[in-house]
Amino acid sequence: VETRTKELIQKNEELEKLSITDKLTSLYNRVKLDNVLNEEFNRSKRYNFVFCVIMLDIDFFKKVNDTFGHQIGDDVLKELASIIKNCTRATDIVGRWGGEEFLVICPNTNLEGAKALAINMNKAVKSHTFSTYPEKLTISLGISCYKNALLKPEELVANADIALYRAKENGRDRVEIYDKEI
Ligand code: GH3
Ligand code: MG
Ligand code: MG
Repeated sequence: VETRTKELIQKNEELEKLSITDKLTSLYNRVKLDNVLNEEFNRSKRYNFVFCVIMLDIDFFKKVNDTFGHQIGDDVLKELASIIKNCTRATDIVGRWGGEEFLVICPNTNLEGAKALAINMNKAVKSHTFSTYPEKLTISLGISCYKNALLKPEELVANADIALYRAKENGRDRVEIYDKEI
C-alpha cells in the first residue's frame, strides 16, 4: 500500500506540473500566470508590496515562419524562452502568454528593477546567435507596475500591453514603461 500511495502522489505531482507548463517552451503557461497575477495583486493590495510585470513580444516573428518554416519558428521560441528565463531571478515568474508573447511577473520589484531586467533581456536576445535560425532577432517590451488605484490584475497586464504597443510603434527593439500621464 505504501509504494502504491507514493506512486499516486508522484503521479499527482506530475499532472499538476503538466497543467501549469507550456508544452513547447517548458515555461509556465497562461493558467499559472493568471494564478500568480491574482495572488501578487491581492498581496500588494493588502500589504502595499511593489510588483511589476513585463510583457514582451518578438519583433517580426512572422518572417521567421514565412522564410524558414514553422519548425524553425518553434526552435526559435524554445531558445528565446530559455534566454529570457536565464535573465530572471528565481523569484520571478516567467511564462508564455500566448503565441510569441511572454510575460514576466516580478514580485517585490520596483520600476527601476523591472526596467533593468527588461533592458537585460532585450540585450541578451539581440546578441544571441540561434542554433537553427541564421539571423539575429529583437524583442519589444512593455512594463507596468502595480498601483493601489488598480482594481483588477487584468488592468496591470492591459497596461503592460499598452506600453508594449508603444514600443512597437516607436520602432521596436526597445523597452517602454506604462504611465497614465503619457
Ligand atoms: P511584430 O513585430 O509587430 O510583433 O510582428 P510579428 O511578425 O512578430 O507579429 P504577428 O503578430 O504578425 O506574427 C506573430 C506570428 O507568430 C504569427 C504566428 O504564426 C506566429 N506564431 C504564434 N505562435 C507560434 C508557435 O507556437 N509556433 C510558431 N512557429 N509560430 C507561432
Ligand atoms: Mg504578437
Ligand atoms: Mg511579434
